[in-house]
Amino acid sequence: MQQTIFQRIITREIPAAIEYEDEEIIVIRDIAPSAPVHLLIIPKRVIPTINDIAEEDVQLVGKIHCIAANMARKFGIAEQGYRLVTNCNDYGGQTVFHLHTHLLGGEPLGRMNSSSVTHATTTPSRSITSTAVFDVAVFVLVAIGLAIGFNAMNPKAIAWIKPEFERQLATQNDINKYVQNTASPTTQTQQQAQQPQVQPTTDTARKTTTLAVNTATATTAQSTTAAQNATSTQPAAAAPAFTPEPGVVREISYDMFVRLLEGSKHYLIDARSAEKFAQGHINGAANYFGGEVQSRIPDLLSNVPRDRVVLIYCDGGECELSHHVADVLKQFGYGPIFIYTGGWAEWTSKRK
Ligand code: AMP
Repeated sequence: MQQTIFQRIITREIPAAIEYEDEEIIVIRDIAPSAPVHLLIIPKRVIPTINDIAEEDVQLVGKIHCIAANMARKFGIAEQGYRLVTNCNDYGGQTVFHLHTHLLGGEPLGRMNSSSVTHATTTPSRSITSTAVFDVAVFVLVAIGLAIGFNAMNPKAIAWIKPEFERQLATQNDINKYVQNTASPTTQTQQQAQQPQVQPTTDTARKTTTLAVNTATATTAQSTTAAQNATSTQPAAAAPAFTPEPGVVREISYDMFVRLLEGSKHYLIDARSAEKFAQGHINGAANYFGGEVQSRIPDLLSNVPRDRVVLIYCDGGECELSHHVADVLKQFGYGPIFIYTGGWAEWTSKRK
């Protein structure tokens, strides 16, 4: 039969850190210590496992314990305490089939309760503390897993990473493509500066502007559904022919928004929550809450016309809700889509 590693250590075929030796027993330091003090007390007689201990070995096995106590005293761990472990066969975690007893000490090893027994026998140095940490870690990981799963299935899912939206400002040129050739009073100077070719605003046009804008006033919703509420086609008389720009999303100012509202063929979307929408919204808007837009894609696709500019607003500021809606529409080839960044906050302050 092939010799075990301990037999080869006993015969000095293999070196080891020997701490004690007599004619019957040898004590070596464990090559992979699981505690500050980790010794192996090995009888020289070949006894593969505890199961093989015979009548004539009883005294020898008793001697292992006496030597263990002596070694504990020698290493200064006797008073604090230590652990003796003898593994047996596969389930016991035995790897060297030559009877030996582990002497472990030099740190608190914890109690041998049900959860620590496994660790104490297979990896003797694991204390109750590390067991508890392990249990807590498992619990936290399971909780995180459940949270991720729940979030993934939830239509109101929280985005783990704040999405980066395309935030490109529209130019007056972008707007001019879709509106009749008029300018609101506040955009006039800006337009003239950027686009000398634009006709100066006339008094008549200015009056038309004011009138048209007044049709898009803030309103309090009564009992309208989103689709019913969307009027979407109230361009002023001569809105230019619509040229689709699939996937184009631009952010717009109040003045641009007003120009598009009054002079373009458009579909207006309020991306705020249904509650906020019910409290008040821009006349003619349909409500598609940006936080739940993924669950309303079929609804969106059947209601939002493809031959109109899409205007979206929410509370204003970062406009994440509007961008969520815009992103979905963009994926389905809609465009141009204009996001009014002033949103409801600016709209209501300007319309007072
Ligand atoms: P067991 O798993 O209970 O059979 O324990 C065997 C122990 O022997 C392990 O803790 C090993 O780290 C240790 N061991 C294996 N080879 C050597 C070696 N050459 N010198 C010292 N300890 C060893």
